[in-house]
Amino acid sequence: MSLLDRHRAVMPGWMPVYYGDDAIEIVSGSGRHVTGADGRTYLDFFGGVLTTMIGYDIAEISDAVRRQIGTGVAHTSTLYLIRQQVELAEKIARVSGIPDARVFFTNSGSEANESALLFAANVRRSNQILAIKNSYHGRTFATMAVTGHRSWSSSSLSPLTVNWLSSADRLRGRMAGLGAEDLLDAAVDDLREVLATVTAGDVAALIAEPIQGVGGFVHGPDGLLGAYQKVLAESGILLIADEVQTGWGRTGEHFWGYQAHGVTPDLITFAKGIGNGFALGGVVGRAEVMNAVPAISFSTFGGNPVSAAAGNAVLDYVLDHDLQGNAQRVGSILLGGLRSLDAAIVGEVRGRGLMIGIEFVRPGTTEPDPAATLRVFDRCREGGLLVGKGGLHGNVIRIGPPLTLTEEEARTGLSVLTDAITATDAEAH
Ligand code: PLP
Repeated sequence: MSLLDRHRAVMPGWMPVYYGDDAIEIVSGSGRHVTGADGRTYLDFFGGVLTTMIGYDIAEISDAVRRQIGTGVAHTSTLYLIRQQVELAEKIARVSGIPDARVFFTNSGSEANESALLFAANVRRSNQILAIKNSYHGRTFATMAVTGHRSWSSSSLSPLTVNWLSSADRLRGRMAGLGAEDLLDAAVDDLREVLATVTAGDVAALIAEPIQGVGGFVHGPDGLLGAYQKVLAESGILLIADEVQTGWGRTGEHFWGYQAHGVTPDLITFAKGIGNGFALGGVVGRAEVMNAVPAISFSTFGGNPVSAAAGNAVLDYVLDHDLQGNAQRVGSILLGGLRSLDAAIVGEVRGRGLMIGIEFVRPGTTEPDPAATLRVFDRCREGGLLVGKGGLHGNVIRIGPPLTLTEEEARTGLSVLTDAITATDAEAH
């Protein structure tokens, strides 16, 4: 039996697997490249799912993990002191932008958001949360409840009372003749209206991704979260920034996605890239909020010595090699190249740094075209390039490569992507 058949026989049937019956089993990786069991090598423009943030088999990361494993201690639990964990917490608190910050470690982004929601709900004595449509925050009970994406949400069984704000989608806003300022005003009006009408006045927090990841790398106008926070602060409502995809310099111009919004969140959640593949996530936030609920501060595996060793090496690497600057530089080659394409099926090229989305539409409309997206996606694979897919309608190609991507690799991938889009565009006429 093939590995895919064995997967289907033993794992939940609905689990999406890229490339359907021809799914790839990745067996090795080096730098920005991975090799499949079929012997083919691909340039990885999605970095796992923005998880392999530094790249594959990077000596500094592998060595740090091997050193920790070499001590014989993979785990001691939070019953004991863990040097790697304390050092990583100090570094994350330092770069968080939150004064006097505290850090709580988890194993994943879902747990990070679950914990942040729990911190906020406890401090505010309320289970009312504001979330944004088209968002994705994870696979746990509470995080699914604040996920506003129909393929991934389960709000009918919610442990929270959730009220939804519109996602200030740029493409549709522009097509409707709205500029960034108008979008921002409309979004703030929307927030005020939701607070005044459907909430009971004691909302705990707003949770938001500075750029929506699974939702298709959608971002509202700059300053949106800052404008929201001014309104939230009037009632003491907390702001949780989900930086699981946007953190650590990925957006180029800023170290955190929230910085484009002129705001400092009360809580920031992180995961994915900080472990470069090792399971590591967490919350960094204001001491008053994080210290208020001591019973939450325990996780058997969160921040275990091996993951924390990886996290320390990753964060050092990001800072020592100015990967934020690289994301900005190399990302602008990709953005520039994609924006110069003349293809009617491309509705919008958007993003920042090395977080770039290409939205596919039926020519001249804002109507999503998932079929064209799939053809571009498959053509990329044929050309040796792995990209991501996403968006509410499955009509966005997502690019989120390791932040170490070189200019040459960017140009190679861009050429495959350009050919794939051009060939698909030709079919649309
Ligand atoms: N938050 C965001 C923005 C994400 O993109 C994801 C995962 O894709 C999560 C949270 C959940 O993280 P995890 O899959 O590690 O639980």
